[in-house]
This record gives sequence, C-alpha cells and structure tokens, in this order.
Amino acid sequence: MKEIILAKNGEIALKGLNRRKFEEVLMRNIKWRLRDFGKASLSCMQSTIYIAPEDSTFYDFDGAIEALRHVFGIASISRAIVLEKNMEDILSHVCDYVENDLFDAKTFKVEAKRSDKHFPLTSPQISAEVGGKILSRFHHLKVDVHNPDVTVMVEIRDRGAYIHAGKIPGAGGMPVSSSGEAMLLISGGIDSPVAAYMMAKRGLALSTIHFQSPPYTSDRALEKVVTLCEELTPYTGRLSFYCVPFTEIQEALREHCPEELFTVMMRRMMMRIATRIAQEKNIPALVTGESLAQVASQTLEALYCTDNATPLVVLRPLIGMDKGEIIRISREIGTFETSILPYEDCCTVFTPRHPCTKPKLAVLEKAEARFDYEPLLEKAIAQTELRMITG
Ligand code: ATP
Ligand code: MG
Repeated sequence: MKEIILAKNGEIALKGLNRRKFEEVLMRNIKWRLRDFGKASLSCMQSTIYIAPEDSTFYDFDGAIEALRHVFGIASISRAIVLEKNMEDILSHVCDYVENDLFDAKTFKVEAKRSDKHFPLTSPQISAEVGGKILSRFHHLKVDVHNPDVTVMVEIRDRGAYIHAGKIPGAGGMPVSSSGEAMLLISGGIDSPVAAYMMAKRGLALSTIHFQSPPYTSDRALEKVVTLCEELTPYTGRLSFYCVPFTEIQEALREHCPEELFTVMMRRMMMRIATRIAQEKNIPALVTGESLAQVASQTLEALYCTDNATPLVVLRPLIGMDKGEIIRISREIGTFETSILPYEDCCTVFTPRHPCTKPKLAVLEKAEARFDYEPLLEKAIAQTELRMITG
C-alpha cells in the first residue's frame, strides 16, 4: 500500500504569475521541516504539494503531519492512499483504508473531485459508487451530505487516484521568507514571541535580537529567551539569535538622563543597535511586540520617539490587540508557559517610578546629547554574540 501526504496551498494559490516562486519557497520550507521523518520526494502540481515517502511503511506520517500543521502557506493537509485511476482499484481499497476513521462515526459522505476529466465517471457517479460500497460494508453508518462526521474524499488527479478521510487544517498564511526578512526584538515576555508568530505567518523570515544586562539579569533569563526562540522554530524555521550586552548603556543612561525618560531612551538605543546589525545583514525591517497604550513606552508619543531612532520599517503586529487576545495566541502557539517564568528582563530592572507618557523628541535628543553614547553602541555591537537556533 502506497501512501502520500497532500499539502494544499493556501493564499499562494491567489498569487498569479508569481505563484511558482511562492511554491518553491514553500517546498523548501517543507523539506527542511520534514528532514527527520524519513526519505520523501516533494513535487508541486495543481496547488498541492505532494509529499511521497520512498517507503510508506517506515515513514513517520504522524510526526510529519504534526510538523506540517505549523508550516505557514499550507491551507490543509491530508494523508491519502495512492491508487491507479480505475474504479475497480478504488472500490476494492476504500473500505479498508478509511475503516479506522469511520469506526466511531455515525454519519459520512463521499466527496469526489475529478481534475482529470478523462476519467470515465463524473464526480457524482464516483461518490455514489464509493458511498454504496461503504454502506454495504459498515452497517452502522448513514449518509449525511450536510453535516457528516466523516467526509471520505476521492480525488482523481493527473498522477493517480487518492483516497483520504478528510483534511486537517493547516496554519494558513504565507511561506516563511516569501515576504523577505525582519529583525525581531525579543524580550522574555509574552508579547514579542506572539509578534514573531504573526509576522512569520505573513511570510517573513526572522532574525532575533535580545538585550541582556548582566549581572542585573541572569543566565537563566537569557536561557529563557533562547527557549522561546526554540519554541518558535516550528513556525519560523531556524532563527539567528543576536545577544547584545546592554548593561553599560543602561548604566550610562541612568547616570546622564532624566529618570522619567529612561525607558524611551533605552528603547531608542535598542533600535539603534538593532538597526545597525540588521543593516549589516541587509535586513530592512524591525519587529517589536508593542501594543498601543499597554505601558508608558507604548503611547503614540513614545512610539513616535522610538521610530525616530531608526530609518527601518518598524512592524508592530500587536499594535491593536489587547493583552487577553495576545495571551490567547501565546497559549495556542505554546510560548505562554515559558514567557511567564519569573526571570527579570533588562527593562524591568531599570524601570522608572514615574515614566513620562508623552515624551518630546527634542527633549530626548537634548538629553542624549549630554553623553557620548556612540562608543558604547559600537562596543555593545562588537561584543554581540550570535547563535543559530534550529529547533
Ligand atoms: P514583552 O511581553 O514582549 O516583553 P512588554 O509588554 O513587556 O513586551 P516592553 O518591555 O515595553 O513590553 O517591550 C516592548 C517591546 O520591546 C517588546 O515586545 C520587544 O519587542 C522589545 N524589547 C523589550 N525588552 C527587550 C529586550 N530585553 N531585548 C530585546 N527586545 C526587547
Ligand atoms: Mg518585556
């Protein structure tokens, strides 16, 4: 018995002339994600990626399907049996193949799709014959065409006939890296991993950058951020992780700047460093987990001042979301439990008592002119460590 996985493209199918390019990116991502589950060949036809294991018996289908559920660009996934395109073969295999799926069901329907129009039967005729066969074998079942417990699909495609017991929903979105690359500022909090997920879903490949402040922040706080990155890789693919020593800059800010402006000034320094590292890698955009009005540094005025420290596009996918919605996604994608581990972040260590909610750019620039931060930025960049996180 030969089995296959069919991964149907989502939004890519709408991409007109560029479609081939998107499909190639998706195939590359799938190949990488499935590298540990056995040998398989990949091909793309009719808005579907065919994942054909060399040997169905030894292929880890369950593992592969679980991995595919996190790959952006896929609308649905099906595990199917591959048959010759004739009714005899179809009718003699269908019951055995879908038996397990029908075991607990009370109702079912058969849906046939015939993209090979040379096939002698029409789709309704195929459905009727296969449905009859199933009813004659499983007496506990009734047909329900509107709301069946199980839909048995028979697809007559160019290369063969495929039978499966329905579709598993895919992650949707666009293939990671089909929209380019961005640099995510990742803290140990709840928000920035969700921001990563959302931008990866729109097809961005991500590099990540984290600012740490030893000895105010611990190794465990750093490892927590690395764990968050690892938890993101099923969605994002591999991540480069830049870890920037930020202590000296924070100490200089504390010494030279008005306390109520500390957080915004610190965020401007983060933007400057992230920008330079991004530019070195030809990365044109930054991503943050900011959400309007969540804290003092996320008012319109503060965001204006933060943006002003970088020429890059700053993407803030959570800008219009409230904390409850962000937490819901964080739980769904599996980063929440790590995010709430109680290790201090460099922001929390230096939080001012009364942060200014309406900072003025001119005032910030004047405060920044009081000390020569440029060598400190250079030094932090020179001491930045890079790790590859493959997941
Ligand atoms: P999060 O839950 O992601 O920590 P937050 O609500 O705590 O967000 P802030 O601490 O103000 O918000 O940070 C806002 C954004 O700034 C974060 O989402 C992240 O993109 C970035 N950021 C904050 N701290 C760091 C850090 N130590 N390293 C890198 N980026 C950071
Ligand atoms: Mg934070």
